Formats: sequence, C-alpha cells, structure tokens
Amino acid sequence: MSLPFNPAAIFADRMPELLRTMPKAELHMHIEGSLEPELIFALAQRNGVSIPYASVEELRSAYAFTNLQSFLDIYYAGASVLLTEQDFYDMAWAYLQRAAADHVLRTEMFFDPQTHTERGVSMQTVVQGLHRACVDAKAQLGVDAALILCFLRHLSEESAFETLEQALPFRDLFIGVGLDSSEVGHPPEKFARVFARCRELGLHLVAHAGEEGPPAYVWSALDVLKVERIDHGVQSIKDAALMKRLAADRIPLTVCPLSNLKLCVFPDLAQHNLGQLLDAGLVATVNSDDPAYFGGYVNENFTQTFAATGLSAQHAWQLARNSFEGSFASADARRVWLDKVDAHFAGFV
Ligand SMILES: [Zn+2]
Repeated sequence: MSLPFNPAAIFADRMPELLRTMPKAELHMHIEGSLEPELIFALAQRNGVSIPYASVEELRSAYAFTNLQSFLDIYYAGASVLLTEQDFYDMAWAYLQRAAADHVLRTEMFFDPQTHTERGVSMQTVVQGLHRACVDAKAQLGVDAALILCFLRHLSEESAFETLEQALPFRDLFIGVGLDSSEVGHPPEKFARVFARCRELGLHLVAHAGEEGPPAYVWSALDVLKVERIDHGVQSIKDAALMKRLAADRIPLTVCPLSNLKLCVFPDLAQHNLGQLLDAGLVATVNSDDPAYFGGYVNENFTQTFAATGLSAQHAWQLARNSFEGSFASADARRVWLDKVDAHFAGFV
C-alpha cells in the first residue's frame, strides 16, 4: 500500500503529538468504566447514596487496586450512584468531552444494563440518558457516538434474553450487542442462542475473547456467535491458523494496552504484542476499555504504548485507519474519516 506521507520524516520526538492529534475512533470503552472519583462523589451527594469512601482522595487511592476483586468492589460502588436518567447522561457526557479532546471522531460505547436493572434502575432510564448524551455529542462536540449493549457473561443466557427483551423497545438507540465481564470459565458458546436472536434482529455483534481466555474462545466467538469484531483478542497470537483467519477476514481486534498492563495480561508495556498483530496484517486498534480505572483515556493508551514499544509513524497511521475501518459507521462516513486520517499524516510536517 502506498503511504500518503513519508514516515521517515516524522522524528520520534514528535510521535506523541502525532498520536494525540490524529483523528481516531474508539471501539472498546465501557461507559461505566469512565466514572471518575469526582463524579462518583457528586452523584452520591445529589442522590443521597452513601458509598464506603470518606473523600474523593480516599476513593482515588482505592483506584490503585491490586486484583480483580478490589477492582470490582470499586466498580460496583461507583455504579451504585447511578440512579436517574440525568446521572447516565452526565457520565456519558464527561467521557464524550474527553473523547473530543483526544480527537476521537467516532466512538462506540459499551454499556452494561444488567449492572443497573439488577439494582432496580429501568432500562429506559439507562438507555435514554446515554442516548441523549450521544445526540448532544454530535451537535456540540462533533463526535459521532453510538451505543453497544453488553451482556454480562458471568450471568446466565436466560438473564441475557431478559435483558434483550427489556431493551427491544429502544432498539433504535443502540447498534449492537457485546459480551463482557469475567471471561475464563464463560466461553462464548454459553450465549449462542441469544446472539443468534440478536443476529436475526439485525444487530451488530461483538464479544470479548482472548483477553485472558484461550484462542479457542476467539474461534467460537467467530464461528458460533458469528461476531464481526473481537474485543481484546491478544491471545490469538498463540494460534497461527487463527491469526491467518483474522487477517484474511479482516476481523478487527479492539486492543486495550493499559488495561492489559493493569490486569497483568502482559508483564510490562514493552512486551505488548500490538506491533506483532499489526505486522501480521491484523486490523488491530487501540482503545481505553475502562479508562477511569486503568490509567488513561485513548490518547494515553497510544502515547504510553508507542513510547514503550517503539512503534513507528506508519503503525500510527495504520491504527488510525483501522479504527475507522473497524467501526460500524456507514461506508460514506468511514470514507470521509479515512481521508481525514491521510490528510492529517500528509500535513504533519
Ligand atoms: Zn472491555
């Protein structure tokens, strides 16, 4: 492929600026994972909810969690303050402003309705609050935002079916479904029937697979659930046939380097396999996962990963292009954004 720019002309010291300013899409971000301590406290106060942290500082220091359980403790304490439509709006709006500042032109945000409906918050409250923020993001920030409903995989398929049923009155307000939460022990096959139903409904399909789980989970996400995109997928590198399949079918992988670091999927960022995935021809992308908890929004993921691994300007260009190619936006919208990427790199001198 001919490049629209000369990568050798972009020196290493200017890479952070290139990464920060390039147009990009974010395809793997859980909106509940964007709750910052300040907003949790503000919402707790507004709703009269008590949380087991005395101050913003104490909560902030608890974000330095040491294992999955301590992460989940904070995650659920955080989610417990979300009660009204305005709360969901405020959470999404805070993220969307940060996304705009990071030059995100398109974002496809995950939300976990079961985390809220199990607490007695209605699907309508959740979806309409998030959707209103998406509408305002387009008008006020120029960010094209869409929603993907995720099923919690540690719960049953029956619960996923109930959640889908509750969401169908709002079918026009989300573009697809995904599968998240603890992966190991909960293979994609567990959700075969509910994904088949979502497929009939014309929803886009994605699933977390191959984050900690084996390549076999990526195969079954593709062949049983028939997903169009794999969230994480970094373990695919252990299976040469799978790597060939992902490259041949141009299945995007939504990679989240700082999340992988924080959850010890890689011992340090320098050993992250993002570069290998790209060099093998995969449609890999960079995303923030749960940015409030994992140490940074999408630009932090880009700048820290490039600094640690020494990836090149050509890799940056490929990642920016992949993020739009991998999105579920219309072909026309994607073409406009891809042209913007090329123009940005061509003009970056
Ligand atoms: Zn995730």
